[in-house]
Amino acid sequence: MAHIVVLGAGTGGMPAAYELRAELGSGHRITVVNALDYFQFVPSNPWVAVGWREREVTTFPIRPYLEKKGIDFIAQPVLRIDAEGNALELADGQRLGYDYLVITTGPKLSFDEVPGAGPAGHTQSICSIDHAEQTWAAYQAFLQDPGPAVVGAMPGASCFGPAYEFAFILNTDLRRRKQRNKVPLTFVTSEPYIGHMGLGGVGDSKSMLESEFRNNDIKWICNARVDKVEAGLMFVSELDEAGQLKKEHQLPFKFSMMLPAFKGVDAVAQVEGLCNPRGFVLIDEYQRSKKYKNIFSAGVCVAIPPVEVTPVPTGAPKTGYMIETMVSAIVHNIAADLRGAKADTKASWNAICLADMGDTGAAFVALPQIPPRNVNWFKKGKWVHLAKVAFEKYFMYKMKNGTSEPIYEKYVLKSLGIERLDRP
Ligand SMILES: Cc1cc2nc3c(=O)[nH]c(=O)nc-3n(C[C@H](O)[C@H](O)[C@H](O)COP(=O)(O)OP(=O)(O)OC[C@H]3O[C@@H](n4cnc5c(N)ncnc54)[C@H](O)[C@@H]3O)c2cc1C
Repeated sequence: MAHIVVLGAGTGGMPAAYELRAELGSGHRITVVNALDYFQFVPSNPWVAVGWREREVTTFPIRPYLEKKGIDFIAQPVLRIDAEGNALELADGQRLGYDYLVITTGPKLSFDEVPGAGPAGHTQSICSIDHAEQTWAAYQAFLQDPGPAVVGAMPGASCFGPAYEFAFILNTDLRRRKQRNKVPLTFVTSEPYIGHMGLGGVGDSKSMLESEFRNNDIKWICNARVDKVEAGLMFVSELDEAGQLKKEHQLPFKFSMMLPAFKGVDAVAQVEGLCNPRGFVLIDEYQRSKKYKNIFSAGVCVAIPPVEVTPVPTGAPKTGYMIETMVSAIVHNIAADLRGAKADTKASWNAICLADMGDTGAAFVALPQIPPRNVNWFKKGKWVHLAKVAFEKYFMYKMKNGTSEPIYEKYVLKSLGIERLDRP
């Protein structure tokens, strides 16, 4: 009997545990270790931050649902991975051995790269449920005394979709409250142009999102290197295409939400030979560590090169569908390894996303992720908003019921009228 440990119970880790159980049957032991004892559906956080969702809807306690499927659960942060000794060292002093380790630890939020940024400083975040709730509290105070707002993404960011979502959701919420006229809104982003999204654009994303910004009185600054943030004041260097300083801005604000750059979490980043300099796991095309043959990794914590070099650094996003196919590839590859067969299943590194815009939304498919592409599709419509709301319910239902079926493929692709992509 092999012991497979999944480290991190988020968007990648939970389905990984369920898929492993379905694929391997009861003959092997599966343990999930997560820093927190609850699951959170991260894509709902922009809604939590404006009071459209409550914690009870977007989170649930992990243990009972995993245990129903015969999966052990330990709610402890992992402090160290002893990759040579095949063991994890947990915060409570436990040492947990493994035969295979699946790392799905998501991002470390790198607020400290910009002085004054982040919830401990002067900008809000929506990256975790706790942050989103803190943003909702700050937003309620802001509504009592509205003024300029700044939303966007910091240098080195890779996850631009939620920044756009939040700008449009904030815009919609302020309109509904008849307060939009009191809030000059600026989108500040490290992307070289609006709609780049760390992907070099998708279809006509540049024109469509610029047009949406114009139609909704949202101003923007691209190639923006936020240098520091003080209380109510953001210092931004706008660069030109050659990376030279074009203009310096001092933006006053009363409310700001900025997506940070991501890194790998400390316990993973510290393992000798496992990661690149930013702490992302270096994997081969089969999701396997280049150095440790019994370590696999999926999700935001894996190293993916940027789609292109940009004047202000940006990264490539890792989104749900891509993560789902990484997880499926890992499950197939561990199962093959256990049979003594070749682990040769690859993930499908395509970007598919439903981005909410409050009362409408934008969907995109970038296949492959790096241009030129076979599919380069970007569409806007109210149906995307409705599909995203339904997807949240569907994802939470499936996570509680231990499904091993590929949710993004079954749901998102169908809603886009696409039958199947080249997934494992
Ligand atoms: C605000 C936001 C909205 C997003 N919206 C979308 C969207 O609409 N569609 C889409 O496709 N993608 C979206 N993404 C991108 C991506 O899908 C999510 O970030 C997704 O949650 C990443 O999944 P993951 O499994 O890699 O990491 P996570 O879901 O972040 O899970 C990582 C888990 O590892 C645990 N962990 C970390 N370190 C340790 C440790 N040392 N010990 C134990 N446990 C640890 C964490 O507690 C966490 O539970 C969004 C991202 C953000 C930030």
